[in-house]
Amino acid sequence: MSKTAYQHPEVECLDRDAILAIQKRKLAVLGGRLSTSPDWVAHFRSAGMSPADMVTHDALAAAPTLEKVNLRDLYPFPMLTNDMSTVRRFIATSGTTGLPVMFGMTDRDLDHLLAYQMCRILRAAGVEPSDRFYQGYGYGLWVGGLALDVGLKAYGATNFPLGPGRAELALAYLRDHGYTACSMSPLWLMTLVTAAHEMGMDPRRDWKLRVGLFGGQSVSAAFRDQLEAALPSGFVAHNIYGTTEAGGPVLGISCPYSHDRDEMHLINEDTIITEILDPATMSPVGPGEVGELVITTLDREASPVVRWRTRDLVRLSDHPYDCPCGRKGMPLVGRIIGRSDDMLKVRGVIVFPTQIEDIIANTEGAVKEAWHIVIDREDKILEEINIEIEKTRGSNVPREDVAHRVQHAVHSRIGIRANVICHEEGTLPRYEAKAVRVHVRKN
Ligand SMILES: [Zn+2]
Repeated sequence: MSKTAYQHPEVECLDRDAILAIQKRKLAVLGGRLSTSPDWVAHFRSAGMSPADMVTHDALAAAPTLEKVNLRDLYPFPMLTNDMSTVRRFIATSGTTGLPVMFGMTDRDLDHLLAYQMCRILRAAGVEPSDRFYQGYGYGLWVGGLALDVGLKAYGATNFPLGPGRAELALAYLRDHGYTACSMSPLWLMTLVTAAHEMGMDPRRDWKLRVGLFGGQSVSAAFRDQLEAALPSGFVAHNIYGTTEAGGPVLGISCPYSHDRDEMHLINEDTIITEILDPATMSPVGPGEVGELVITTLDREASPVVRWRTRDLVRLSDHPYDCPCGRKGMPLVGRIIGRSDDMLKVRGVIVFPTQIEDIIANTEGAVKEAWHIVIDREDKILEEINIEIEKTRGSNVPREDVAHRVQHAVHSRIGIRANVICHEEGTLPRYEAKAVRVHVRKN
C-alpha cells in the first residue's frame, strides 16, 4: 500500500516548473497590492525599486530583505496592509530579544489560508481525520496553538487542546482518552515519557500515540529515534517547521519517506516562496549546501512578508525534487541546523547547540532533555565552552565518567575542548516549550 496521501493532489503533484509558474503569477499580484502601501513603497525604495517591479523571481531576488529591525522601526503595527477593521486577530513573535513584533490576520488569512496550509501538513504527516489529537502547543499571541486549532478543525480531527505543561493531567489523559496523534515540543514529550515510567506507566503499552508533529525546537535525529523507541510500536515523530512571520508552522513537514532521511518538504510553495541563501553573499545555495531560509508570503492579506530573513539554517537536500512520495515541486531540506544567531565560535570552530545535543542524546547515562552550555561572552566568540549535563537516575555509570564521555565525544566529533560538569538528574531547568540551551554567565 502506498504511504502517500495528498490533501491537494492538483498542487502537490505538480512539477517544479508548474509551482514556479504559480509563484510568478502570485508575485505580480502581491507586488501590485503592496504598491498601494506607503510602508512597503518606502521599503522597496531602499533598493531603488517599487513593489510593482516584483513580477519575476529575478526581480524578487533584487528586492530588499526584511528583518526584525525594519519592523521594530514601524512599531506598533508594522507594514499592516489592511485596515484594522478587517484584522480579526494578531499573532506575535516570542520577543526573546526585545518587544514582540505584531502580525495581523484577516478572516481569509485565518479561515482560508492557514486552514489550507495546515490541512496539507496534517495529511502529509499521516494524521487522519479519525485521530484524537493532543494539541500541546502554547496559545495567546504565539501562533503554534492557534494554527493547530484552525488546521484540526478544517481537517476534521478531534482536538484536545491541552496546550503545554500540566504533566500529571496529560499523563492521565494520554492513557484514558487514548490520544492517537499529538503536537508539542519533543522535549516535553520526552519529559512526559520519563514521568510515566516513574509512575509505573509504560507508554509503549498504555498509550495509543502513533504520530506526532514536533516543532518549536529543533532536536537531533538521535533524540527523535529515542522518542520513537519509547512510544508505541510504529510511532512516527515528524518534524514540522514554520515561523510567526510565515503565518505559523506552515513551511516544512516530513513525509513518511523523507522522515527516514531526516528531511522535510517545503510543502506550501504555492502560497510561500522559500529562498535558501548563503547568509554572507545572499546567493542561492546548491543541493547539499547550507543556507538561510528567506521567505515571501504570497497570499497573506494583513501582514505579508517579502524576503523575510528567518536566520534559520538548513541544508538543501542532495536531491531536492526526488522524493518517492511524488511531491516533485516541493523541495526537500534537512532539519533546522541552528539559527545564525545561535552560532558559537570556539577557537575559530563554528558550533551549533544542536551538535552538542546530538552528542548528549547518544551518550549512555546522560539525560537527553536537560542540559545547557554556559559561556562568558555575549558575542559568542569563545576560547572554551562549559557544558552542564545530568546523569540518569537509573544509570550505573559514575557521574565523572558520563562527563568524560561527553567531553571526549565533543573533542573527537566537533574538534573543540569543553569543560563538562555532570549533575544528578533533576538539577537543571526543564522547559515546556522552547529550551534555553546557551546561558551567558553574568560577571
Ligand atoms: Zn516526500
